[in-house]
Amino acid sequence: MSTMKAAVLKGPHTVVLEDIARPTITEPTDVILKVERTAICGTDLHPYESRLELEDDVVLGHEFLGTIVAAGPGVANFSEGDRVVASCVVSCGACYWCRRGNPGRCAGVRIFGMGITFGDLVGGQAEYVLVPNADLTLKAIPEGADDDDMLFVGDIITTGYEAVRRSIRPGDTVAIVGAGPVGLCAAMSAEVLGASQVFVVDRVPARLKEAEQYGAIPVNFDEVDPQDAVYDLTDWRGADLVIDAVGHETALQSATRLVAGGGTISIPGAYVEESIPLPFGELWIKGVTIEGGVANIVNYMDEVTTLIMAGKLRPSSLISHRMGLSEVSEAYRMFHEREATKIVLDPSK
Ligand SMILES: [Zn+2]
Ligand SMILES: [Zn+2]
Repeated sequence: MSTMKAAVLKGPHTVVLEDIARPTITEPTDVILKVERTAICGTDLHPYESRLELEDDVVLGHEFLGTIVAAGPGVANFSEGDRVVASCVVSCGACYWCRRGNPGRCAGVRIFGMGITFGDLVGGQAEYVLVPNADLTLKAIPEGADDDDMLFVGDIITTGYEAVRRSIRPGDTVAIVGAGPVGLCAAMSAEVLGASQVFVVDRVPARLKEAEQYGAIPVNFDEVDPQDAVYDLTDWRGADLVIDAVGHETALQSATRLVAGGGTISIPGAYVEESIPLPFGELWIKGVTIEGGVANIVNYMDEVTTLIMAGKLRPSSLISHRMGLSEVSEAYRMFHEREATKIVLDPSK
């Protein structure tokens, strides 16, 4: 049996590079990718910090692109040698929810590298990865595209884009809570999708500076009351659309204060807790709509790619560090300590 190097989560805060079996095609609709770039995502911190039920060692990673080295006989749209990016979410394409355009709700939904909670799918922080249901899961990388931009089409830019896209109306004021990679991707997307003003709320000056570069108004909650800052510039209405790009109860509480009456809170941040304290009376009085759940990545990969090719979205600007897969333990430590915004790993190093 041939082996490969992979980033394996052995326990809380412990990721090591290990030799494991190289994947082989098991279903006719599978492909095997040789991974050329892979990134660490904020969602990887859920397994890393043991917030998910994990039975065994888990190969992490759900943002990756590469070249197809083997394709099952049931794969119609791709073949060996094609360069592709994979949606981090794998769905069946045929169930009740998939047929209604909701692949994130798929009865058999799986996410790469998240353990048994999300279908036990081996992750892509490795030299090779098996991609199921390839015709639906994969997006071809167009000629002339920048790999660093396309890497994020499988997750953060498309996740941030959907969070805005599904609720925005032209001219809306958008407030984004959390200037991590998904929050910054939502800020870029809001500018493209017709927001009149975009606020980004965080406390890290460097990240707020980055948000400013995408045209957003930075709000440092250590310096000002975010509600005052947003209400001051919206005729005291609040934001029509608030994005909770954090996934923590304090962020949702902040979103509740920032949102305008009749507005929407859209939640790309992942909640894995069973319950959290919420100011529900305020949400009810304001008549707020809440949207969230596992992202419908495949619905928007084409749109996002077109906007990248047109130069209107450039998620590669988020990359702060490049490291070899062999340095994955240190990479996770840095990302966990917030020493890096976005780390791209090269499996050949
Ligand atoms: Zn992710
Ligand atoms: Zn389905």
